[in-house]
Amino acid sequence: MNVLKFGGTSVGTVESLRHVKQIVESLPRETVVVVSALGGLTDTLIATALKASEGGEWRAEMDRISKRHHDIIDTLVEEERKTETLSKVDSLLGELSRTYEGVSLIGDLPQKILDLIVSMGERMSAPIVAGIVKGARLHDSLEFIKTEKWFDKNIADGALTHDLIQKEFSCLGDGPHITGGFISQDRDSGEITNLGRGGSDYTAALIAAALDAEMLEIWTDVDGFMTADPRIIKDAKVLPSMSFVESMELCSFGAKVIYPPTIYPVFHKNIPIRILNTFNPTAKGTLISDVSDSYEYPVKGVTAINKTCLVCLSGNFTENVAQVNTRAYNALARNGISVFLLAQPGENHEFSFAISSSDRIQASKVLNEEFAPELIDGMLTGITLTDSLSTVAVVGEGLKVMKGINGRVANTLKRNGINPLACSEGNSETTISFVVEEKDSVRAIESIHGLFFRTNV
Ligand code: ADP
Ligand code: ASP
Ligand code: MG
Repeated sequence: MNVLKFGGTSVGTVESLRHVKQIVESLPRETVVVVSALGGLTDTLIATALKASEGGEWRAEMDRISKRHHDIIDTLVEEERKTETLSKVDSLLGELSRTYEGVSLIGDLPQKILDLIVSMGERMSAPIVAGIVKGARLHDSLEFIKTEKWFDKNIADGALTHDLIQKEFSCLGDGPHITGGFISQDRDSGEITNLGRGGSDYTAALIAAALDAEMLEIWTDVDGFMTADPRIIKDAKVLPSMSFVESMELCSFGAKVIYPPTIYPVFHKNIPIRILNTFNPTAKGTLISDVSDSYEYPVKGVTAINKTCLVCLSGNFTENVAQVNTRAYNALARNGISVFLLAQPGENHEFSFAISSSDRIQASKVLNEEFAPELIDGMLTGITLTDSLSTVAVVGEGLKVMKGINGRVANTLKRNGINPLACSEGNSETTISFVVEEKDSVRAIESIHGLFFRTNV
């Protein structure tokens, strides 16, 4: 049994939904299909909510949202399922409109109202796709994807979700089974939550893992996982395969193909992932499994995370670097802030690490509290945070055996006039990462991609 996930890129238009219909109808009835909101809709839902909360005009956008869903239902939903689908979608559209009205009246947008608004995308797309695919059965993911609070984030309650998925899909023969990705429900309060932007991939992985699927298929709009973001690098190549670890590293350093938390549940069960193109379904795509083919492609790709903030601790702690390092790292982790690059210590008694810019204010507060005594006695002379940076990463199992690779990367950057502000400590053998100014990010990706994929390494 396979679990398939179709992203917004695949369910955006009448034309793309025809492809989805054809693909799913050609598969066994046991198939589980996870769908995202109509392409671009989640962004629209958020932008309209913000506008309404600021007293702006939201009704015209609401009308466009309604029309877009109605047009698809009119054109594609099977005749005998039209009334049922329309009534479900209209009831959600009504709730959405009333919620915008409320937001506009109170002039505020509390997080739980925003979560309710963004949930509408998948709550509408799932019944629509179920109405389009012959014989499909609809499942409400709010019933089985449960989250718990972790600091100010919602994270999946793995054990509860696992059991609920097994119960929900105990009768697989009567499918195909369609459900919405991304959306979830708080296990304690019952409020609607979500798994984070791009989270439909994660819903599909949780289902695949709980049902011991043979394969998780991520259907999108490119022929597979590529050596770089094709919107930046025009001659990026499609990779035939990569290991779980390589995909995890690439995605956590910004490759948008898969939402990073997705990989762990399937990796843990050794369920391979295939990335496939809805618009070119016969292309082989990329197979992600426990096998690494470092021979053909020792390096798998170059990627970047923008909105990086570099935190630098300076002082007179030459003897205690490791200790200061661990304390800083732990204090941030205790507050739900993850560090994605630990830099090599600098010459001037300082060490740095990269975090997401969205964690900047909280990180500054946490570190100033943690090191208050050292800041007073002078062991630490400063904690500085620099924004508008980008973390660039090169990933490949083959990097482990390449000699002098750090030097070659450094020289390439230098030749292109790029000066990294920090380089990774080597915390992973499969990744080299470094921080540059955000304005240099694209040039850094181009030059490093050129080094590995246009010349012989
Ligand atoms: P979906 O709506 O299917 O979830 P996403 O937009 O989340 O699609 O992800 C697919 C997009 O990711 C592609 O259209 C491509 O532009 C972009 N992308 C970024 N990096 C890569 C990469 N390394 N390989 C393939 N696609 C990439
Ligand atoms: N619709 C959600 C988003 O745009 C989830 C997803 O597409 O995976 O982030
Ligand atoms: Mg996606």
